[in-house]
Amino acid sequence: MGKYKIAVLPGDGIGPEVIEQAVKVIEAVGEIYNHSFELKEGLLGGCAIDATGEPFPKETLELCKSSDAVLLGAVGGPKWDNLPGDKRPEAGLLGIRGALGLYANLRPAVIYQALKGASPLRSDIVKDGIDIMVVRELTGGMYFGERGRVQTENMGQAAFDTEKYSEFEVERIARLAFETAMKRNKKLTSVDKANVLESSRLWREVVNRVASDYPEVELNHMYVDNAAMQLVRNPAQFDVIVTSNMFGDILSDEASMITGSIGMLPSASLGEGSLGLYEPIHGSAPDIAGQDKANPIATILSVAMMMKYSFGLEDAFRAIENAVVNVLGMGYRTADIASPDTPRENIVGTKEMGRLIISKLK
Ligand code: NAD
Repeated sequence: MGKYKIAVLPGDGIGPEVIEQAVKVIEAVGEIYNHSFELKEGLLGGCAIDATGEPFPKETLELCKSSDAVLLGAVGGPKWDNLPGDKRPEAGLLGIRGALGLYANLRPAVIYQALKGASPLRSDIVKDGIDIMVVRELTGGMYFGERGRVQTENMGQAAFDTEKYSEFEVERIARLAFETAMKRNKKLTSVDKANVLESSRLWREVVNRVASDYPEVELNHMYVDNAAMQLVRNPAQFDVIVTSNMFGDILSDEASMITGSIGMLPSASLGEGSLGLYEPIHGSAPDIAGQDKANPIATILSVAMMMKYSFGLEDAFRAIENAVVNVLGMGYRTADIASPDTPRENIVGTKEMGRLIISKLK
């Protein structure tokens, strides 16, 4: 029997609704596999601003640091949109990733057989399904580099942001990507812009150096503009993609879009130890908050990733994934993944989708 502490940060909008179902899944897994999960809730984002004035309060940091994993819903909403950048709910997201040293973001983009029709790509392009893992560097590059504004003599203001990567930063994300590839189909694509950017040339040198430790992995390099094109032209060619913070931000959104539903996709952010942060890739969806309409599957699949990457519980990971596939196979859909020919009685709300998935776990 394993004992695990999980910090649960529901956040804002649909966050608490999808987290409620994910927590029920964790409790069910605990019962079935005889593990003890100790869950403690904390504040992050807009709800934290309302309660404490800060998007990422100290108490939340302490709670996360004393846990084995963190489960996050989503943050943000129109109520907090006019606050200055560092006081906005989204600042809590950057804060928590930085404070926990989470330097890698893993985002699977999978097209489930039952949902092939939801992909905006032509059916002949997605006929064999898609299963891509995007590994994005998360704490370096342009989002963290030096930035500022200067007054020019005769061209008004100028603004700059700096893309900077050290060998250390590239090597650790490259290693994690090669390790991930080893657990999958042993195929890795490193995406950069080495024809223009010096930071990308260093990136490529380091990735090539790390590759010599993983002779079984087939490595190729691709420029980011080509990668953006190939993702819609022939996505099945990709297995694991590793890239920088900014390129990864853009490409992982593109990869998720080709799967057809933002409500289906989980993510994991990992650091040096086993502590990881698990969250759906979608936001707080204020347009449907509080209406029992949100798809809880992305958050439930984030729990599956937590079982695998933080706790090493491969059985629980598979059981959750299979339960989701089963329920989709039975024809049940939340509104976001329903098609015009989905029977009305098969369109279910957040709570019912959670209940169905749990019923297939047992
Ligand atoms: P969003 O992901 O919240 O919503 C985009 C669209 O997808 C909406 O129509 C929404 O209804 C739908 N959607 C999203 N998740 C869904 C789900 N689980 N089930 C069904 N439909 C779903 O993105 P947005 O509208 O650009 O942003 C809304 C707020 O969320 C903003 O404040 C933004 O800053 C924040 N945000 C937070 C995160 C995060 O917490 N990680 C990520 C992105 C955006």
